[in-house]
Amino acid sequence: MRRQKKTTGKIFIISGPSGSGKTTLLKRALLNKSLKNKLAKSVSLTTRPKRSGEREGRDYFFVSPAEFRQLNKAKKILEWTRYLSYDYGTKRDYLEDKLKKVRHLALCLDLRGALKLKKLYPENAVTIFVEPPSINELRKRIEGRCSKTKPEEVDRRVKLAVAELKNAHRYDYILKNKNLAKAESRLKGIILKEIGV
Ligand code: ADP
Ligand code: 5GP
Repeated sequence: MRRQKKTTGKIFIISGPSGSGKTTLLKRALLNKSLKNKLAKSVSLTTRPKRSGEREGRDYFFVSPAEFRQLNKAKKILEWTRYLSYDYGTKRDYLEDKLKKVRHLALCLDLRGALKLKKLYPENAVTIFVEPPSINELRKRIEGRCSKTKPEEVDRRVKLAVAELKNAHRYDYILKNKNLAKAESRLKGIILKEIGV
């Protein structure tokens, strides 16, 4: 695999089961005074339908399966994964461009994406695993997040979570997200420490 060009910024890769709070924590970190203008979020491509409240270009670039396949065939996708029958991926040009323009970058990816970016950017990638307090709480969070999520999909996400939790030890940091304010503060602490502020 070819190594990517050197970049001086840190690349924070946030993983964890669906509903563990990755998006919420990252959104809050991006609004934090001490991180503003230092950290930007990478927006992924996905073929899954938009949830209520999600916006094109802010939360994801929503594409059709055919568009995703075509981009992948043209080698325009740096890393990708299939999660519960939908595809998710990071656009190569988008990421390289962002790394040139912003100081530090954060991405929400699954384990496969986290390991791939760690390999491509060994000196810059910092991996963080967000852990829910319990499986029951995780289920409640997935159900509470979007009323459009069908019960079968909630079940599938919860079932996958049990497997995903076994990989927490493969990350640089494990971040328990029970109390949101405490988890947010810990995430901020990790980021500030890693960027050397
Ligand atoms: P993910 O991005 O990991 O799939 P989200 O950030 O979408 O998860 O969080 C799932 C749901 O749980 C959201 O409705 C969010 O508001 C809620 N949530 C996140 N963290 C907490 C927390 N510490 N306590 C209670 N609810 C939370
Ligand atoms: P969700 O449907 O809950 O937004 O995301 C489902 C899963 O896909 C999460 O684990 C999320 O981190 C992962 N994911 C989202 N975008 C990407 C991506 O571009 N690449 C990879 N590898 N995983 C992604």
